[in-house]
Amino acid sequence: MLLEFENLDVRYGRNQAVKSLSFGVAADEIVTVLGSNGAGKTSLLRALQGLTPTASGRVLFSGEDVTRLPPPQRLKRGLALVPEGRQIAITLSVHENLLMGAYCREDGDIMRDIEAIYARFPNLGSRRDMSASVLSGGEQQMLAISRALLARPRLMMLDEPSLGLSPLLVERLFELIAAIHRDGLAILLVEQNTRLALEVAGRGIVMELGRAVLEGPADELRNNDRLAAAYLGEIHS
Ligand code: ATP
Repeated sequence: MLLEFENLDVRYGRNQAVKSLSFGVAADEIVTVLGSNGAGKTSLLRALQGLTPTASGRVLFSGEDVTRLPPPQRLKRGLALVPEGRQIAITLSVHENLLMGAYCREDGDIMRDIEAIYARFPNLGSRRDMSASVLSGGEQQMLAISRALLARPRLMMLDEPSLGLSPLLVERLFELIAAIHRDGLAILLVEQNTRLALEVAGRGIVMELGRAVLEGPADELRNNDRLAAAYLGEIHS
């Protein structure tokens, strides 16, 4: 496994958001984390990146124990998070946002990589010197993903990337996630769009109140009665 976590606990005071969770993502996988609001998905991703402290448990990345490492050190090793709500810097230009994504790199290829992003997303290229606030919601999500790509990660975690996007943009977003995976990245995807998440992912885990209540191959989860009972409307609509 590229990313593994064992018996992970995340607590906010008395509220235990993640309860003894163990799981892993192999280097060639897309894995999805499903669950309703408040299930603990965001807390899990933030804990894996080191943004939220873990009360107990271990996080291993490429076999190394990174549980006590701060977020930039995890990023340097290849673990990147695209946070919920994108969190791009709207007071900075598109170009400056991309440069921020590469802050942990010391190689000389950063400009070449940014040009490759502009070639892939011409809407970002044509607005490179404009404030990121002029971008549409879909473009902001592309910028957030591009910024994470500039860290040259081996595993990208995405937290609710489809939130607030039109159905057409959601389709494009999922095509992009599949393309990034084909380029060689492992993906850990938190999504409310259960149907699309289980189409793109090979495996999934379903969280309820901080615990894993189901896990398995995506096609098994698609046909699981318990998941269907919770998310049927979405899956069969
Ligand atoms: P959503 O889809 O709404 O983001 P989620 O599955 O990502 O939900 P979390 O945001 O991880 O769930 O929340 C899990 C639990 O932890 C909830 O009970 C939530 O209220 C609580 N929680 C989350 N962040 C904090 C915080 N910073 N301080 C206190 N409690 C928090």
